[in-house]
Amino acid sequence: MNLVWYRNDLRIHAHRALKEALQAEGPVTAVYFLCDQQWDEHGVAPLRRWYVLHSLIELGEQLAARGITLHVQDAGDFSRIPAMLQDFTQQQGISQVFCSREYPLNERRRDKAVAKALDDAGVSIRGFDDSVLVPPATLRTGKGTPYTVFSAYKKRWDVWLDSHFQQPELPGKASAKPVAFADRAVVESALESVSVAESLTAHWQPGEQAAATQLEHFVARHLGQYRKLRDFPSLTATSGLSAALSAGTLSPASCYLAARQAMADAGARDGAACWIGELAWRDFYRQIMAQYPRLSWGRAFRPETDLLKWDSDDALFQAWCEGRTGYPLVDAAMRQLVATGWMHNRLRMVTAMFLSKHLWQDWRKGEAFFMAHLIDGDFAANNGGWQWSASTGTDAVPYFRVFNPIRQSQRFDAEGHFIARWVPELKALDNKTIHEPWKQPLLVPDYPAPVVSHAGVRERVTQAFKAVKKDYDDNHAQGGN
Ligand code: FAD
Repeated sequence: MNLVWYRNDLRIHAHRALKEALQAEGPVTAVYFLCDQQWDEHGVAPLRRWYVLHSLIELGEQLAARGITLHVQDAGDFSRIPAMLQDFTQQQGISQVFCSREYPLNERRRDKAVAKALDDAGVSIRGFDDSVLVPPATLRTGKGTPYTVFSAYKKRWDVWLDSHFQQPELPGKASAKPVAFADRAVVESALESVSVAESLTAHWQPGEQAAATQLEHFVARHLGQYRKLRDFPSLTATSGLSAALSAGTLSPASCYLAARQAMADAGARDGAACWIGELAWRDFYRQIMAQYPRLSWGRAFRPETDLLKWDSDDALFQAWCEGRTGYPLVDAAMRQLVATGWMHNRLRMVTAMFLSKHLWQDWRKGEAFFMAHLIDGDFAANNGGWQWSASTGTDAVPYFRVFNPIRQSQRFDAEGHFIARWVPELKALDNKTIHEPWKQPLLVPDYPAPVVSHAGVRERVTQAFKAVKKDYDDNHAQGGN
């Protein structure tokens, strides 16, 4: 008997572990371990839990229709999985386990312990790199080190995929009779303990089928214009597929394939190439996370920036969380996040940079707040995005990148449509004043004055970064660590 162990890969299409299990000799069964406490430890948003559990129900039904039973067991946290999986394989007479590899640190530790437990029981386990297009550690610089600059990584990433990309295949046709998804009740009961407002869930459609439809729709309607329009948050111009990609209801291979096929049409070529670049960013941050474990301990990618002394001002942090900073674009973005569980990429950069550079609050607080609200919360992308924005990470243009939130607003929401939608107190303002409402305070009595001034931020940030770099270099020159 063969077992597919499902984790963040809740689909049946473009799923090599399932395909290989079906091709191996003997019947196939599947298992998923619920890990509520692990979710708590990782600060996972209730909305993301809701998305995962509903997707799991759909997966269980889809597998059942193909004659495969999905067993759902409550593990609590990762530490119990090795013993539970070992017991499960013994009870069910399983000789081989198939799974999609995961790269975050806790997941890798879990998998090491599982491999040992299964080995002790005489069961083999095979992993497949399906959650990325290029597995971490595949691409190395000439010096044999991981790539830390995106542009160089992307060049090699493109070349590697040109010769190694394997078109995802469907699993073979169902050969067994349909079965019932008996553990559906276990998932439904787990869902009962997830408290999430209907106003939030109303924005989302979980599951593999919805993700596939969304991809098709995006490719047909928006991909061609992606490069031109992706930075304007008032438009629907990006795929909205991040939740599906992070829970694995959609595979990056399906996205890559769809974009490559769309490139046959000259009109879509440029947009598709640009979108493929975003899939490369996704892989880039995954390989950074996998190869720099200190990120998983809450440390900065650039070690000297761990010496920065952040302010700790709860009132300022709260104003940021609640969208009351007095900077309209920042506030609109934060309100969008809390109301929908998603935020546009440009605004993630704007708000993250604002918290870390204007408010000088520790980026880790913002990272955790995003994680607690995002439906697509993903450690590698979130940590990578936060550290990039706070200039503690892989940005090749270090600490001089300070977005001006007013300029960003004028550039990317010129008419103020996005701001008017999320900050209705400002909707009556014209398209000039809406970016700087403090210039007409009498018109906006309900809207706060800016909590900080933009003036002087760049100098302050530059000084602080220069100072820690010097301290760090001096310390290291003296043999410190
Ligand atoms: P599209 O523009 O359609 O892009 C397609 C896919 O590419 C996305 O779904 C996503 O999987 C991937 N992608 C796009 N941009 C990036 C990027 N910069 N880094 C890594 N992958 C990317 N993305 C997450 O999936 N989860 C997160 O927790 C997350 N946190 C972020 C935090 C910050 C501070 C920043 C700056 C970015 C973060 N991102 C995160 C990346 C990006 O903002 C989202 O992936 C994107 O906004 C999702 O919208 P979309 O699906 O419409 O993206």
